[in-house]
Amino acid sequence: MVVGGGLAGISAAVALQECGVPVTLLEARPRLGGATHSFRRGDLTIDNGQHVFLRCCTAYRGLLDRLGVADRADVQDRFDVTVLQPGGPAARLRRAPLPSPLHLLPALARYAPLPVRDRLRAVRASAALRRLDPADPSLDDVAAGPWLAARGQSALAREALWGLFITASLNAEVDEAALGLSALVCRRALFGRPDAADIGVPAVPLGDLHGGPALRRIEAAGGEVRLRAKVEAVTADPKVVVDGVPIAADAVVVAVPHRAAARLLPPEALPDPLRWPELDASPIVNVHAVFDRRVLDLPFAAAVGSPVQWMFDRTGPSGLADGQYLAVSVSAADRWIDRPVAELRAVFEPELRRLLPAARDARLRELFVTRERRATFRQRPGCGAPRPGAATRAPGLFLAGAWTDTGWPDTMEGAVRSGLAAARLVRRHLEGVRDR
Ligand SMILES: Cc1cc2nc3c(=O)[nH]c(=O)nc-3n(C[C@H](O)[C@H](O)[C@H](O)COP(=O)(O)OP(=O)(O)OC[C@H]3O[C@@H](n4cnc5c(N)ncnc54)[C@H](O)[C@@H]3O)c2cc1C
Repeated sequence: MVVGGGLAGISAAVALQECGVPVTLLEARPRLGGATHSFRRGDLTIDNGQHVFLRCCTAYRGLLDRLGVADRADVQDRFDVTVLQPGGPAARLRRAPLPSPLHLLPALARYAPLPVRDRLRAVRASAALRRLDPADPSLDDVAAGPWLAARGQSALAREALWGLFITASLNAEVDEAALGLSALVCRRALFGRPDAADIGVPAVPLGDLHGGPALRRIEAAGGEVRLRAKVEAVTADPKVVVDGVPIAADAVVVAVPHRAAARLLPPEALPDPLRWPELDASPIVNVHAVFDRRVLDLPFAAAVGSPVQWMFDRTGPSGLADGQYLAVSVSAADRWIDRPVAELRAVFEPELRRLLPAARDARLRELFVTRERRATFRQRPGCGAPRPGAATRAPGLFLAGAWTDTGWPDTMEGAVRSGLAAARLVRRHLEGVRDR
């Protein structure tokens, strides 16, 4: 039994089925996909929040292959990000056809949002970052911001260069982001294979990329998917309790958010002391703006010196017939999460017009907001130690979820890796039971 139909639960279920293990997947909501889902709003299909991935997200891309939907996401041929700044010229970070880590040097050398001095210092900090071992536990207590500052990175460089990658991947301001996870992202994406940072963007709504195809795939392989099945408890024997009815299983993967996992698991399965609650949560806000004409001639762009962090053209996937629909993604959104739509509009509408010259005369037809209060756990110093592995103290009960100890940030890649790790342990457990 797999409890929770986010990417972690889906990937555990699919991996187990591929080993011939019969699977039942129980999901509380009326759809699969978890934190990646879509909904209808009038004539448009909207994602709960913009999701992107990188070419180096190999486990996640493997899941897209298995679900038969790899062609529903556009992955850049070559890492290429246009960086807008209010009142300044647009800059472009684009990889050059050079071996890593030289492939990003020409872009950095021309990166106008930073003064030349900061660009040179960024090269030195990159070299120091490359030497870090992301798995080194001593990095867990350190924040990326002060570490970068100690290596000559100005506040501007931390925001306008490092923040572009770290804030988006860790859902944390650079100054508060965990250094180990920041190092992992930078090493994998920026200093790994030259194509590692090529950006992938869903070309369809998230529900058509994950939840829908996963449901069909699991059922086609003979599995059972029960939607609207909120699990009330999991017992150590192991059993799963739904609607007051205990259902026996050979093994259970609990692939729910960390708060729910702490409630569901029996005390004998939980670590002592239970430290997951320290993982806490960090919000993401998306501001969705529909203009009466095209205002951005790119699939996406980043912004610095602005509350707009990244914006994505979602016209096609949403089904908008004319005009342009932009989704503005704001990570580490503590200062925005509780602000009413009118206040967010008062900030983001003029900001979009400042960043996009073509938006100045365009009519904003509609602006609405999606908020994910608990989008990820809070990836700050000290967040490594409380993350548990896939095994629990009860044989037959396993954990999955992007918040578990995958070594990766709380991302789609982390979620898929956690599901695969849990599936491996389930297989070993079932083999042990059979041998006995
Ligand atoms: C707005 C937003 C933007 C993001 N952007 C990115 C991005 O660009 N790139 C990226 O890689 N990652 C991004 N993430 C993070 C990514 O979505 C998550 O890391 C990942 O989807 C988590 O998957 P999961 O399976 O671990 O958990 P979840 O998706 O949370 O799945 C858990 C599932 O368990 C179910 N559940 C809970 N309790 C029960 C119960 N009692 N019984 C049955 N089912 C239960 C829930 O309904 C849910 O479906 C973003 C997240 C958000 C919210």
